[in-house]
Amino acid sequence: MRGPFLLAIAARRSPSGSPHFFWTGTRMIIVTAVGTPADDVENIVAHVERAGLRAHISRGEERTIIGCIGDHDKLIAANLTRLPGVEQVLKIGKPYKIASRAFAGSDTIVSLGDAAGTRVGGSELVVIAGPCSVEGRDMLFQTAHAVQASGARALRGGAFKPRSSPYAFQGMGREALELLAEVRAETGLPVVTEVLDPRQVELVSEFADVLQVGARNMQNFALLTEIGKSHRPVLLKRGLSATITELLMAAEYVLAQGNTQVMLCERGIRTYETSTRNTLDIAAIPVLKRETHLPVLVDPSHAAGQAALVAPLAMAAIAAGADGLLVEVHPDPTCAQSDGEQSLTFAAFDSMMRQARVVAQAMGRELTVPLLV
Ligand code: PEP
Ligand code: MN
Repeated sequence: MRGPFLLAIAARRSPSGSPHFFWTGTRMIIVTAVGTPADDVENIVAHVERAGLRAHISRGEERTIIGCIGDHDKLIAANLTRLPGVEQVLKIGKPYKIASRAFAGSDTIVSLGDAAGTRVGGSELVVIAGPCSVEGRDMLFQTAHAVQASGARALRGGAFKPRSSPYAFQGMGREALELLAEVRAETGLPVVTEVLDPRQVELVSEFADVLQVGARNMQNFALLTEIGKSHRPVLLKRGLSATITELLMAAEYVLAQGNTQVMLCERGIRTYETSTRNTLDIAAIPVLKRETHLPVLVDPSHAAGQAALVAPLAMAAIAAGADGLLVEVHPDPTCAQSDGEQSLTFAAFDSMMRQARVVAQAMGRELTVPLLV
């Protein structure tokens, strides 16, 4: 009796006319307790049918199994467990839909909108680099030129910083956004910057090419919804203690609003290990590549917390199949207002890029690093 339990994908037309795919078929199975009386089984079936689903009853020697066919969003699994006779509710399939690999025929490629035509998720390994925070004009321009000369394709820099302490440097705000736009005009590098609050989405979108959602905001659903309505590509970082499924559900929030330009970023998770700032979850890269069509970037800087560990983690990320890197670089890390310990000097970044080119090549990815002069 495999038939009713198989998952199927059906194509439907959305009101806008574009094809949308929805999971159909059984995604929830109710297992009753041994010896559940017929009345209780009937009651469970009635509950399922009241929610507008069909119940497929499979009577075994010891227990009855009820497959639920239809729109499972109308059935709340947790409530089913309260019904007499229900021992277990099994959810089949994934809670994310648009983010799932099955949804799209091919990998999503995110264009950064620059004249050079930088695309994330294709054959090129894209490196985004720059300071943790924009601290001023000179340091930003120097960093942009240096990382570009070493092969970075986009510039990162925080204007609004999510700091653990309310007394720490909070970022230069709008002034930083203006500087980012200026440096883009001079270098052609697209700029990536974090948006902390739904009320900032409009302002940040005016200046930035990519909206970064920080780890601490991965489950800020109001922010994700607002960003989903914007037309800017999104760099969504994994939360400090978020599972891969939770990261994909956060992406689903953005995608569900119509913004399909989402890049995911593994940046280390909090574990019992204290030798590094976070533990880089290398396995998350192939798992995400299997589960979703969205590009997967890795931020070795926030995972490592120490400059010396950034290059080795970056190499591991490329070897594991990452589509790109997000790396912190500062002209003088000893004077950085935030994350100086993990920021690379220009020389260290350049050497990381030369190493990365070799690993990328071994993995069949392109990474163009300008020749030394
Ligand atoms: C950052 O990119 O500077 C940052 C704050 O990262 P995260 O949200 O991953 O901590
Ligand atoms: Mn930082």
